[in-house]
Amino acid sequence: MKKATILIVDDEISNIEIINAILEDRYEICFATSGTQAIEVMRELQPDLVLLDVLMPGMDGFDVCRRVKNDPDLVDIPIIFTTGLGDTADEMKGLSLGAIDYVTKPIQPAILKARVSNHIELKNLRDQLAELAVTDALTGLKNRRHLERTLSSEFARLGRSEEWLSVIMLDIDFFKQFNDTYGHPAGDRCIAMIAATLKRVVQRASDTTARYGGEEFACILPNMPPEEAELIAQEIRHQVHTLNIPHVRSQAQPYVTVSIGVASARCTQDLSPEMWVSQADLQLYRSKAAGRDRISTTEFSADAYRKATGTHG
Ligand code: GH3
Ligand code: MG
Ligand code: MG
Repeated sequence: MKKATILIVDDEISNIEIINAILEDRYEICFATSGTQAIEVMRELQPDLVLLDVLMPGMDGFDVCRRVKNDPDLVDIPIIFTTGLGDTADEMKGLSLGAIDYVTKPIQPAILKARVSNHIELKNLRDQLAELAVTDALTGLKNRRHLERTLSSEFARLGRSEEWLSVIMLDIDFFKQFNDTYGHPAGDRCIAMIAATLKRVVQRASDTTARYGGEEFACILPNMPPEEAELIAQEIRHQVHTLNIPHVRSQAQPYVTVSIGVASARCTQDLSPEMWVSQADLQLYRSKAAGRDRISTTEFSADAYRKATGTHG
């Protein structure tokens, strides 16, 4: 497993050296000598734990903690206060600000090691839980909740430069008949195989592949113009053919196929993230209606969207 990263924050270099010597053999260590620098490092490196000095000139440890706990990008990083004060009121204040623990200087190596190890273990468990909460158990793809969150954040990010965003939706054809013919466990295996295919084809680090519902999948493709998204859709369709999963009762092919809808637009102010899903879904429906095992695409804009859905404003 990857070494956990610990950020040591102290305005006294000698304190950083002492703590570093105790922890460096088990953890990746980084450090900061002021509150402002600490926040910068946290943003950049997302450490697994912070050892935070209370008394520092400028922004003190309590201020740093307060900021961190009000920042959605940093709030999950656990903080342990380190201070020479040994004062119960200070300890209470630190804990009430959201720190998970408190160690007093002079540091006792065995105690620091034990506390850090406990908190890193808890952090790992929390990270695993958070990962489980956004992962679909059958396929290992992201779930719908994660997809919707990612779509919103990508829309905001790409909107700054009105970049392209494409969304692909796909649905297995005649899947009810597949279950009826081969049984539900075989249906599950089929879903898992299609998911694995998607993961293989859609593989840039910024892409997201999700199981949207039962036998329906979605991909978020940031910075991807319509022509490229269509190529990806063609590759998905082709690779699903290549799996060659027998489906004697399909009216499209004697093997399992998917219908695909692709929606692309530049991320402009007058659009909203849900439009990509509803537009891709509309195209998916067109592919179904036209006979299945095919791809339909749209490059949409706010005007076209209003016409298609009959909404105003
Ligand atoms: P179409 O070509 O129009 O998509 O027809 P379809 O039969 O695929 O679509 P329909 O929505 O009528 O049926 C979807 C089927 O997918 C019904 C449901 O039992 C099955 N299904 C949904 N989730 C799962 C799952 O997790 N495992 C299995 N084995 N089947 C599932
Ligand atoms: Mg289906
Ligand atoms: Mg369906």
